[in-house]
Amino acid sequence: MKQTRPGTAKPSAHPTPSPVLTPRTSRADSFTESVIREMTRLALAHNAINLAQGFPDFPCPQELKDAACAALNADFNQYAITWGAQDLRAAIAHRVEAYNGMVLDPEGEITVTCGSTEAMMASMLALITPGDEVIVPEPFYENYGPDAVISGAVPRYVPLGDGESIDEEAWKAAFTKKTRAIIINSPNNPTGKVFTPDELRFIADLCIEHDVIAITDEIYEHILYDGHRHISIGSLSGMEERTVTIGSLSKTYSVTGWRVGYALAGAGLTGRIRKIHDFLTVGAPAPLQQAAVAALNLPESYYRELARNYDRRRKILYKGLIKAGFDCRLPQGAYYIFTDISGFGMTDVAFARHLIETVGVAAVPGSSFYHKGGETKLRFTFSKKDETLHEACRRLEQIG
Ligand code: GLN
Repeated sequence: MKQTRPGTAKPSAHPTPSPVLTPRTSRADSFTESVIREMTRLALAHNAINLAQGFPDFPCPQELKDAACAALNADFNQYAITWGAQDLRAAIAHRVEAYNGMVLDPEGEITVTCGSTEAMMASMLALITPGDEVIVPEPFYENYGPDAVISGAVPRYVPLGDGESIDEEAWKAAFTKKTRAIIINSPNNPTGKVFTPDELRFIADLCIEHDVIAITDEIYEHILYDGHRHISIGSLSGMEERTVTIGSLSKTYSVTGWRVGYALAGAGLTGRIRKIHDFLTVGAPAPLQQAAVAALNLPESYYRELARNYDRRRKILYKGLIKAGFDCRLPQGAYYIFTDISGFGMTDVAFARHLIETVGVAAVPGSSFYHKGGETKLRFTFSKKDETLHEACRRLEQIG
């Protein structure tokens, strides 16, 4: 082959591509990683007690472990039906009819998902056209922000309100011609608010008037205090066909790592949710779906005991926080205490770091529950053993 002298080569018609990827924007640039999960990593790195991420440090019921082992030994190793094992959907339908007052057809109205996280994401992807507005009551569980970005929704925030009732005028004003959905989360993470029957009826009427879907995250439905009762907005008249009810095994049965949740909706909405779910994950873990049937068959006394145990833990943490100088209230439901930290003279992120690094307790900075603001708040979970909470309270007394 004829050698080309240096400097005389013609430029190639196909220039060698640069090995360095050209940076472009992506939807992932529009939100940060989860602050809740980041706090867990920081807690691990500093050996701090993790009162940040809401998961139990105590075992799940023995019946669930036995059922999971039995399912593995019986070789439930392959995919379940993409929208959930038939017996699990039947068990969910049974339970939801008894507890939530909703009658669902397991064949066409129930989708088993990888936790409520996937149920929420799949529902939003399935039901929202980019540009649609979605009403998000604030403060909100941090996933809803990225869920909105990923699905192309334009979030419209309404205050959840500090008092006992929501501000009806503000909520009315949030509904526009572009509103496609509203996210309800009762009991609420992070505040513990349990929506009253009147509030839910008011929201339902707005949904009907404006032809809006309610996507309702009810993962804490069994963790209620002081006589508060759970009501599913989907059980209210006129809401049957315009509600997606999201639930999960995670909190009710203390198995957050199992990733078994569900989305309940009329057949029209479910058809769309199932398609998104199928291509996102194919399905939730098959052996754990079998174990979930055993969970749903636990007796009523299990749920009473769950709430009683959380009530005790709630009071331990509350007492410790008050003693340590936090301004807070006992929550009505769920397993968090949302505190005001104005008195400590530090903003939420700096204070959270200080607590992890020097006090040995992790919490979640309040700003991760707001689109703007929240720097005067910090969220603590009490989903931990009594002794873990007592030790955390002892450490919190050392705040300097
Ligand atoms: N819901 C829990 C919390 O708010 C855990 C969330 C999660 O990390 N998936 O802390």
